[in-house]
Amino acid sequence: MPSVSASSLVKNLIRSEILALSAYHVPDSGGYIKLDAMENPYLLPQSLREEIAAIVADAAINRYPDPNPAALKGKIRELLALPEGMEVLLGNGSDELIQLLAMALNKPGATLLSVEPSFVMYRMIATFTGMRYVGVPLAADFSLDLPAMLAAIEREQPELVFLAYPNNPTGNLFCADAVRQIIAASPGLVVVDEAYYAFARDSFIPQLTKFPNLLVMRTYSKLGMAGLRLGFLAGSAVWLEQLEKLRLPYNVGVLPQQVAEKLLENHKVLLQQAGQIKLDRAVLYRQLSEIKGVTVYPSEANFLLFRVAEATAVFEGLKQRGVLIKNLNGGHPMLTDCLRVTVGTPEENEQFIVALQACLQSTVE
Ligand SMILES: *Cc1c(COP(=O)(O)O)cnc(C)c1O
Repeated sequence: MPSVSASSLVKNLIRSEILALSAYHVPDSGGYIKLDAMENPYLLPQSLREEIAAIVADAAINRYPDPNPAALKGKIRELLALPEGMEVLLGNGSDELIQLLAMALNKPGATLLSVEPSFVMYRMIATFTGMRYVGVPLAADFSLDLPAMLAAIEREQPELVFLAYPNNPTGNLFCADAVRQIIAASPGLVVVDEAYYAFARDSFIPQLTKFPNLLVMRTYSKLGMAGLRLGFLAGSAVWLEQLEKLRLPYNVGVLPQQVAEKLLENHKVLLQQAGQIKLDRAVLYRQLSEIKGVTVYPSEANFLLFRVAEATAVFEGLKQRGVLIKNLNGGHPMLTDCLRVTVGTPEENEQFIVALQACLQSTVE
């Protein structure tokens, strides 16, 4: 056994990019009104919960999961109305699919390109996999800077482009025509990440047949299944066949498979909850826009981005009052003094607004 300390071994053996990272911080949310993580705040109807209980009771958890759950995939295809020749690939959440795509396309020197500010996992997973990362700044109103994007694509020739549609953490839906121009100009694969599809008025699923370099990624996390961990890539079987080779065979467990299948049979229930969240988003948007000192940004997701004078003080003040949201201040420069709140139930939203008004009062005094 070597007579050196674990910490010196770690320093020698772990890749320097990993040593330089700070771990993704998930705060302890116990006891808070939890409006930080874009979760659906609603429980399922009692009858559906009982059906799930029966499924769990009978599930063969002593067996490995089905590596190709045909019924679940069929259900997803049906809900998407996927055209002929198009397939789905399942992931343990869509975060796993980002990683799988990076592994598949990461030839020596390959580039992953996205916009900034956007979903931090694109950059993090590029780092994890040793892929070169390029982040193109959005315009000041968080729309796509199309000339800058087209120039960056021309210059960098990225193997892989991620666009979140709607974008997180800004909440806006990019101009569809600009996205189409980016796909058309890209020499590599473009993945449109539709994590918030249930709250948005547009999708790139119907465009799949038009672009040979397009895949659409979705997750059910924001629709009420964050705890199940299920996401998928949709697109040409020609692409997914190759990506399937990298997918770990048992990446989606027995319980997530069977429960998700049941939930997707009741997709309408979830979409009704999303519909309620969209109505409440409009109420919350109006309430925030009426508060002096708050700038709120338009959203097609289940959260709102807003700016205040002293974001970190307001974030801490909300926490003291029992409301947990996301502080984006100190991250990307375009997000200085920005906070992100998930749309909760009407009661939670009201408690958030009351607490916010109290915080703003006390930071002014
Ligand atoms: C939340 C989110 C994801 C990841 O969702 P999973 O829970 O890993 O399925 C992916 N993309 C965006 C833009 C998100 O906001």
